[in-house]
Amino acid sequence: MESILKKEFNDYVIIGLGRFGKSLAVTLADEGKNVLAIDTDKSNVEEIQNKVTHAVVADATKKEVLHSLGIQNFDCAIVCIGEDLSASMLATLNCKELKVPYIIAKSQSDQQKEILEKIGVDLVVFPEVFMSKKLSTALIDPLTNEIAKLTKNYKIVEIKCPTNWVNKSILETNIRKKYGVNVIFIKRDGNIIEPFPEAVLEKEDLLVISGTPKNIDVVENKVEGIVELKERFSDAISEK
Ligand code: ATP
Repeated sequence: MESILKKEFNDYVIIGLGRFGKSLAVTLADEGKNVLAIDTDKSNVEEIQNKVTHAVVADATKKEVLHSLGIQNFDCAIVCIGEDLSASMLATLNCKELKVPYIIAKSQSDQQKEILEKIGVDLVVFPEVFMSKKLSTALIDPLTNEIAKLTKNYKIVEIKCPTNWVNKSILETNIRKKYGVNVIFIKRDGNIIEPFPEAVLEKEDLLVISGTPKNIDVVENKVEGIVELKERFSDAISEK
């Protein structure tokens, strides 16, 4: 987010702990930020209460409730309610009226975006669009390592092409069926090669592969020459 905003905040209130809100709250807390996470659903709150500074069951459509939680003292509020348009609007309006300096809101439609902007939101995000842009950037320029930042419960590693796969096509290696992992792309002479099933692997190829940590571990134990191991986490890819 900071790279978009060119701003760095320390105190965040996250309203709405669906997958997006939860992932955001935990990621920010992992980065050492002060995070207050709010949801009306007790189970969502319980799921992250040990991972963020404070997590409370509260209704963000009630201004006095947000006031009593002290959200007016936070630098940035992120409203992560998509489905319930009126809850999204009221929660946002309350943040605005309580004078939170920077407000970000998740939107699911252009209409919702328009309303949120009219309320005075500083930044409207479409999580799906945002994620797909990040993913495509990462695939085009793997060195940015963005892909690693996207993934939780999901591991991405770069391996040297095992000798017994040289001169075999991806299909022939049977990597997906045998190990339950996917080849995201092949790096050859500094170029990115798309992993078509019929793409034939060469001796010096590097393969960027993805899968659950368990499946990746199996591959790691089978092949020689793990060049680089990237383990970063996020819920974005793995939970659909
Ligand atoms: P995601 O796509 O991020 O998984 P979702 O589709 O599960 O989200 P949304 O409708 O976007 O669900 O709502 C996200 C969260 O917002 C839910 O956990 C919901 O309980 C919470 N929420 C809804 N209304 C309020 C409210 N008034 N106050 C606080 N939290 C709310």
